[in-house]
Amino acid sequence: MKHTSLQWIGDFLSLFYPEYCPACGAVLMRNERCVCTNCSIHLPRTEDSLFSPNPTERLFWGRVPVVAAAALFKFKKGGGVQSLIHHLKYKNRPDIGRYFGRMLGEELRQNPQFLTVDAIVPIPLHPKKLRLRGYNQSEEIAAGIAMALERPVWPDVLVRQVATSTQTKRSALQRWENVCTVFAVPDPARIAGKHLLLVDDVITTGSTMEAAANKLLEAPNVIVSLAALAVDVV
Ligand SMILES: [Zn+2]
Repeated sequence: MKHTSLQWIGDFLSLFYPEYCPACGAVLMRNERCVCTNCSIHLPRTEDSLFSPNPTERLFWGRVPVVAAAALFKFKKGGGVQSLIHHLKYKNRPDIGRYFGRMLGEELRQNPQFLTVDAIVPIPLHPKKLRLRGYNQSEEIAAGIAMALERPVWPDVLVRQVATSTQTKRSALQRWENVCTVFAVPDPARIAGKHLLLVDDVITTGSTMEAAANKLLEAPNVIVSLAALAVDVV
């Protein structure tokens, strides 16, 4: 490849402003994209697409009916995946969502159940957080999946309702009710009869995905699948 003047400038600048791997902190080589080669090989993959039912799907058994579920990485406290997600959410790195979203999308293509998906729906961010962060990390992941799966992203079909009073002032029961009513579908007719792929950054307890999926399932003849960059299962 021809060494352009732009690359010379890039090399020069990287002497002073090197890019770091968001998973392990190593300085990135110019040929490394998003994470270092070592991390791209060793970050713990779930291999969810190889198993049916897989552990991510089992997490939702008896809670919400889903067609299929898959995550790309295993989430471990203090591990590289946690650092990656931290950069995606809090260090202004929406590109991490797109890059690994696309990788996740390539994984989903291996499972025929994901091929009937009509549209991709990111878990919405609270409007206050969206203003602060400038982007919704789940929407970035959804955009990456969309590239691989060749399906549209529908970011407006699911919305987060703005709370009327602060969480701290509420009783435990009210807080529980709040989780159940936090999401809304403004136009159920629009999603009627569709297979929707709900996307979040990390599945920990699964309660966010559960609440959002149940809300989507209230619309006529909707079926739902789930995808996340990481899942916290042993
Ligand atoms: Zn690394």
